Amino acid sequence: MNTKHRPIAIVTGASRGIGAAIAAQLAQDGYDLLLCCRKNTELLENAAKSLQQEHNVSVTARCGDLGDPVFVSDLFRNISRLDLLVNNAGISKTGLLQDMTDAEWLEQMNTNVNSVFYLCRAAIPVMLREHTGRIINISSVWGSVGASMECAYSASKGSIDALTRSLAKELAPSGIAVNAVAPGFIDTEMNDHLSAEEKEMLFAEIPAGRAGTPEEVASLVSLLAKAPVYLTGQILRIDGGWI
Ligand code: NDP
Repeated sequence: MNTKHRPIAIVTGASRGIGAAIAAQLAQDGYDLLLCCRKNTELLENAAKSLQQEHNVSVTARCGDLGDPVFVSDLFRNISRLDLLVNNAGISKTGLLQDMTDAEWLEQMNTNVNSVFYLCRAAIPVMLREHTGRIINISSVWGSVGASMECAYSASKGSIDALTRSLAKELAPSGIAVNAVAPGFIDTEMNDHLSAEEKEMLFAEIPAGRAGTPEEVASLVSLLAKAPVYLTGQILRIDGGWI
């Protein structure tokens, strides 16, 4: 982390859910922030304003499709320093693999995997200039164990795990740590398609007996951002003992 300035972080998917909690935690930790989401402009801008006022940090909001390399290049146009990149934006397409259309598969991969490639590719040269930085990818427990009815989602998160481990090796000589956080079941809009009954059945399988909160994931991201750079290439599960 650069000590001469306030640290700078990018958080993707920060309009709601886990990303919004990460943004709030990092603002509290004293980071200047660039927050992104796809279409919830008003939500993101309001969050940016209130974080700025509450924590006296600079917060910029940008909306667009992170699966579009042109948008990602534009996002980095004025970025000359970066301490932390949190790749959190993601979608989950559920259903049988045999019923999935080409367009659904491609959207899943473009949003969850290609975006991370575009963002890392743009962030690395900026971090290399200071020989320091952290990349934290938000994966999922399904990336390592797989989930029925979520084949594409699981494949996308498995790719994130492999990318995290490989990029960590590539960037360790430059003092840049790359890790992933793999949540279990977290109470956000992503799981709104589940009924109360289905959620209760899931909680019965989770030793902690409940869903995790976005704030718990954010707290782990904050800890990882402060961890020694020697901690790299790890996929850290936060799942209440589920898997
Ligand atoms: P939400 O559905 O609550 O929020 C998703 C966020 O991603 C929103 O800010 C959304 O923006 C943004 N987003 C989606 N697609 C794009 C895109 N193409 N370009 C830019 N931004 C995009 O999700 P969660 O908070 O639940 O999930 C966050 C991350 O955590 C995801 O990567 C997810 O896979 C992972 N995760 C979640 C778990 C859970 O149980 N909730 C469990 C394990 C992992 P907008 O508001 O504009 O749509």
